[in-house]
Amino acid sequence: MRTHAFCLLTLLLAPVFAQDPTVTLKVDATDAPRRVFHVQMKMAAKPGSLTLLYPKWIPGEHMPVGPITNLVGLKITAAGQPVAWKRDSANMFAFHVDVPPGATALDIAFDYISTSDPNLFTSSGSSTTSELAVLNWNQTLLYPQGSDPDSMRYQATLQVPSGWRYGTALPIARESGNLVEFQPASLTTLVDSPISTGMHYRTIDLGNDGGTPHYIHIAADSEHALDASPDTIAHWKNVVAETGALFGSRHYRGYHFLLTLSDYTVRIGIEHHESSDDRNYERTLIDPVLLKADAILLPHEMTHSWNGKFRRPAGLATGGYDAPMQGDLLWVYEGLTNYLGEVLAARSGLWSAADYRDSLAITAAQLDRESGRTWRPLEDTAVAAQLLYEAPNEFSEYRRSVDYYPEGSLIWLETDVLIRSLSHGTKSLNDFCRSFHGGPGGAPALKPYNFDDLVAALNAVQPYDWAGFFQKRLRSTDSHAPLGGITGGGWKLVYNSTPSDLWKALEQENKWTDFSFSIGLKVKDDGTIVDVAWNGPSAKANVTPGTKLIAVNSRQFDITSLREAVQQTATSAMPLDLLIKTGEYYKTYRIEYRGGERFPHLERDDSAPDLISVISAPLAKK
Ligand SMILES: [Zn+2]
Repeated sequence: MRTHAFCLLTLLLAPVFAQDPTVTLKVDATDAPRRVFHVQMKMAAKPGSLTLLYPKWIPGEHMPVGPITNLVGLKITAAGQPVAWKRDSANMFAFHVDVPPGATALDIAFDYISTSDPNLFTSSGSSTTSELAVLNWNQTLLYPQGSDPDSMRYQATLQVPSGWRYGTALPIARESGNLVEFQPASLTTLVDSPISTGMHYRTIDLGNDGGTPHYIHIAADSEHALDASPDTIAHWKNVVAETGALFGSRHYRGYHFLLTLSDYTVRIGIEHHESSDDRNYERTLIDPVLLKADAILLPHEMTHSWNGKFRRPAGLATGGYDAPMQGDLLWVYEGLTNYLGEVLAARSGLWSAADYRDSLAITAAQLDRESGRTWRPLEDTAVAAQLLYEAPNEFSEYRRSVDYYPEGSLIWLETDVLIRSLSHGTKSLNDFCRSFHGGPGGAPALKPYNFDDLVAALNAVQPYDWAGFFQKRLRSTDSHAPLGGITGGGWKLVYNSTPSDLWKALEQENKWTDFSFSIGLKVKDDGTIVDVAWNGPSAKANVTPGTKLIAVNSRQFDITSLREAVQQTATSAMPLDLLIKTGEYYKTYRIEYRGGERFPHLERDDSAPDLISVISAPLAKK
């Protein structure tokens, strides 16, 4: 209703608008199998100088990764006459044009080349194969500098390859053959509403909650890969029910998971208000190991509809795509989402309670041995997010990575456990989620917050020195990770020689074997040493990341022989010698280590109540 009133007022006050201010955007995706999208735009314009921007800071990416290098073939005309453009010499995302006298509109045409690089992010990395494509509208549009993305309107049409089906949260006006015409939408909604399309495609209804529909649209590189089991579908429906039970209301008109399954696109997800763009390996739904390894993707991205989209740190709510974002509260935006995504994986049945504990054990152990903790406080990993997302793997323990995700799981578990303990079981973080992220619900909305708002909301649930609690954990340079949630939750971190099922699943998914807690390195099947723990036994022997393991104790390397050699260190006095190739040189490194293989687990501690099992139990009434 407010939108209609605003439009009427605008028309009354601004009768000088001679042309429709709605931008026409036509995207021809029929060449998607060869990674090319053809774009045509028509935009009202007045004579004089105009600057057109390509989206740079993409919501949810937390860094300036708009794929500007893949915009090619830019041609601008007015009434059929060419109009020259000039890129700004400082801002690579800005194009200056002089709209000629008498012109009322610009016609803009360009192509977008979708890269084949799977090691980037959803809005910039590989998103097409011969069988499927994901289109993020930020890749295929320009907008006038100074425009308000909430009021700037786009009328989009999309032509998909013949025979391909599609799914999106963007409301559709009409469909004809392989041409889809969407209802006019704000630039904000358009950029928030990607489309997946493909030859092998399946849409599953995940249930209607109080009139709000939920769907999962699966695009895969093969028909077989679409075969989600009835159990998996039931678990996805549980995710919908559990988010309703947790937050109490929903801030979307309908929710659409866009699940893309390919070994050739990026493997990561990105959140939106009314959908999520979730990418994974082709066989994820038909391989129980991959399904376990990636169980948190959908719950994580859906949680963002509340925590990240509706409630967003003020520094990440810039109201556009050209202003730098500030990531200092990413330990809430991503950290709390990481915690809730894992908890929801357990509550929905995608993970067992044991899987959830194994995940906590891995997180706790990895963070507890990070030597970078003594120089870089957690808060700096959030502030420096735009650097760390693209940082290399080498010596990552010393550099630290985007640790506000995993350490967020520990800190928010500790918060949850503290609320439960201080309130003698009458309150929990569920109450905070209901008050902070709930409300009347309905169409997407944005309610920014700052640190003080967060502290006040927690204090309203359970009075405590929350400001001091968070500041201590954010600014600490202590060598150990905060494990108070695990110990207060009735468990303790231990190590033994048997990997958990989740550990094995993560190794298989990552295509490496992880000796981080024994000899201190991760190695691929071909011998490539992916990373070396900074203070571990391998690092002390001067083993370096990026080199190649050739032989173990004089015998040709394979994973099994290395595992057996590490196991034997527990019982044998035999040395462990690794022959390693660095560039064109070979050298043997003697690893001083005795202890066999070591893997983290949680073990029950009866001196405290088992709150972790309470937290991971379903909330929704069946
Ligand atoms: Zn996230």
